[in-house]
Amino acid sequence: MLTLTHLNIWDGESAIEADAIQIQGPHIIAVGDSALLSQGSETINCSGLTAMPGLIDAHVHLELNPDDKDPPAKTLPHVVPLMQERVLAMAKSGITTARDLGGGAWYELTLRDAIARGDVMGPRLLCSGQPITSPRGHCHFWGGEAADLTAAKGVLQRQVDHQVDLIKIMATGGRMTKGSEPTDTQFPQQTLNTLVALAHSHNLPVAAHCHGTEGIHRAALAGVNTIEHCSWVGQDGWASNYQDDIAKVILDNGIWVSPTVNKGWQRMLDSSSGDVLGRVRSAYRKMLDMGINMVASTDAGIPGVYHHELAHALVVFGKIAQLDHGDTLRSATSNAASALGISAITGRIKAGMEADILLVDGNPLDDITAITRTAHVYCRGRLVAG
Ligand SMILES: [Zn+2]
Repeated sequence: MLTLTHLNIWDGESAIEADAIQIQGPHIIAVGDSALLSQGSETINCSGLTAMPGLIDAHVHLELNPDDKDPPAKTLPHVVPLMQERVLAMAKSGITTARDLGGGAWYELTLRDAIARGDVMGPRLLCSGQPITSPRGHCHFWGGEAADLTAAKGVLQRQVDHQVDLIKIMATGGRMTKGSEPTDTQFPQQTLNTLVALAHSHNLPVAAHCHGTEGIHRAALAGVNTIEHCSWVGQDGWASNYQDDIAKVILDNGIWVSPTVNKGWQRMLDSSSGDVLGRVRSAYRKMLDMGINMVASTDAGIPGVYHHELAHALVVFGKIAQLDHGDTLRSATSNAASALGISAITGRIKAGMEADILLVDGNPLDDITAITRTAHVYCRGRLVAG
């Protein structure tokens, strides 16, 4: 049993009176008063630090190397030790859960299980395996190409057989794949409807990659669980084709938006023209005002986007979406846990939850950049060595 004392605590929803957290094994067993909880327990005085739930990145690709300009044609075993380095760096930076939305050889699932057993230090992982895509479509190199519904069902079943945690569908093209266009849809409505129903029959949520507006519309109608990117790409570029009636479908179907804002989006804030920033900001504002929930995500692994930089990305996301600090923090903790269906085990500092705890220097409610100043991290009760 270990008690962290003299803390500021932001519990995933709000700042609370309590100033101590007691951990036993992988769980938080009490949250309360330092003097009371210290009795009969090993203690660590954490004065000056704020405890908050560990961060959740809703969209990463563990097997992709951010230093590669182009994705590899085939997933080879040499990536496995690199993936182990990445998950350790993520844990050190305060990420205690990550959702992997695509790889080619299910290596991330093996890593998920090794982390769960305690053999490897890293965040809890939820993994989709191979995304379902059209022939030569977005990320086809991962092996999930399907020319028709029967083939798509086969790809889905293959992921089920590998014990994935969710299904990923590429509803539109993307920028990373040559010959694939972000504006283009990849599957007819009926195919998406059938795949989503089939995934749900296996109790698997669905994440849909969507840049163009028509793809967003189809994914929303099909009732996917999260819309990734949600870029509203139209003929005039990024965020040029936001549509209120489609956003309403997203809202009505209880779908979460995962906008994949990485720290490099700071360039949007620094740009002198401000055109794209204005459009993106307006689309986010309209969705948020309507009541659509957004979760933090980075698409880590794509060129220039490192796996351990969610905290920095969050600061940028908060500025672009014009969120207050509490809402920014919720997007990567309590709200993210709800979006991923794991709010019963993580995303809050509360007795009974798994001990996913980030201790930062300072108070992020006053200064959001405090989340980039990691002091200590506990992943399911285990201290991540600094
Ligand atoms: Zn991605």
